[in-house]
Amino acid sequence: MSFATGLICRECGSTYAAEARYACDYCFGPLEVAYDLDAARGAVTRKSIQEGPASIWRYGDLLPDPGLEPVDLGAGWTPLRRATRLAEVLGVKELWLKDDTRNPTGSFKDRVVSVALSSARRLGFTTAACASTGNLATSVAAHAASIGWPSVSIIPADLEKSKIAMAAIFGGTVLGVEGNYDDVNRLCVELLGEHPDWAFANINLRSYYAEGSKTLAFEIAEQLGWRTPDQVIVPLASGSQFTKIAKGFQQFIDLELVDGTAPTLFGAQATGCSPIATAFTDGAEYITPQRPNTIARSLAIGNPADAPYVLDELRRGGGDCGSVADEEILECIELLARTEGIFAETAGGVTIASLRQLLERGSIDREKSIVAIISGHGLKTLDAVVETATVTATISPSLESAEAALSQHFLAAAS
Ligand SMILES: *Cc1c(COP(=O)(O)O)cnc(C)c1O
Ligand SMILES: [Zn+2]
Repeated sequence: MSFATGLICRECGSTYAAEARYACDYCFGPLEVAYDLDAARGAVTRKSIQEGPASIWRYGDLLPDPGLEPVDLGAGWTPLRRATRLAEVLGVKELWLKDDTRNPTGSFKDRVVSVALSSARRLGFTTAACASTGNLATSVAAHAASIGWPSVSIIPADLEKSKIAMAAIFGGTVLGVEGNYDDVNRLCVELLGEHPDWAFANINLRSYYAEGSKTLAFEIAEQLGWRTPDQVIVPLASGSQFTKIAKGFQQFIDLELVDGTAPTLFGAQATGCSPIATAFTDGAEYITPQRPNTIARSLAIGNPADAPYVLDELRRGGGDCGSVADEEILECIELLARTEGIFAETAGGVTIASLRQLLERGSIDREKSIVAIISGHGLKTLDAVVETATVTATISPSLESAEAALSQHFLAAAS
């Protein structure tokens, strides 16, 4: 049973029923889902959660009402892995990786889409849509296919080939826009005006969509044995995931489900699209929109909707935000793969490279526990690594040829 009570304006506090509405009538502020935590306290227990499914829906009490049953491909309950080898390279005491590459369509977006489309179905919608940097399109198309809904996903036309194929394979309509994500988003807001009966996961369903990210915090706390970590580093696109991870930890603390205090949250951006890192460093109240130019396409939002709330949380909690070059992103995709056996997309490279940068800067404490969010699978951005991740040597099919190559490349290095 969901303890959600409706929607509340993040700016002026006006409340609304849990309906298809995403902006406040009075101040145009964004709406978020509100909960009756007093009623949930005592009713939602460690035990009641542990008895739930191995997916985000084990936290259904603290998510928007999905209606009769959720739209569910099995998002969430991904491994939290202790990363001892990477920790040693980075010189930190306790590092954990939240491996969200392991979601049904290979990215954390399955968490938010499962929640958004469940709410959309409860509210009577029958068509799914989204404005996407790539991963959202795939997740929306897959979840829509699983319930027989048509879908319309709109993406920048020049995304990685592997990402476009993953979005298109589910049979929905995928429109490639000659422009960047901010153009895509503007276009989708116009389309919504013409098609108000379409459920755009991250526009008119955004209040519900965003709640799915809280499950990252819930899972991390539960998987650590019902305690909060000291520090969490989160990749930033629109900033939604970041703000809802903060909300998730706070709800668990308010419900007395965990030991410990709210972790300090850190952001991770690519320098080629780093409006939040820049505003944070400059002490600016608002971001200056940026035209993205980075290989981290899934994070390439030049005008992030949740930036003011991310900046608030960074400042309130004593966090910081990394900004890393494309070469560092590639280097850290490789570092993660070779130390921990996890192949992440470019966003994961941004997170690990930012972690390294913030450790060097002294913002992240090496002695305290750290969780890094690895939000998407490397197969999604193969384009980024196909030039460098190649065969060690090409040989003829003879033992002699193999031994010659091995003595040059393998035996020498092994001894
Ligand atoms: C969408 C996305 C994010 C972050 O998204 P927000 O808009 O900040 O919530 C992070 N990593 C990957 C791989 C994504 O696709
Ligand atoms: Zn308002």
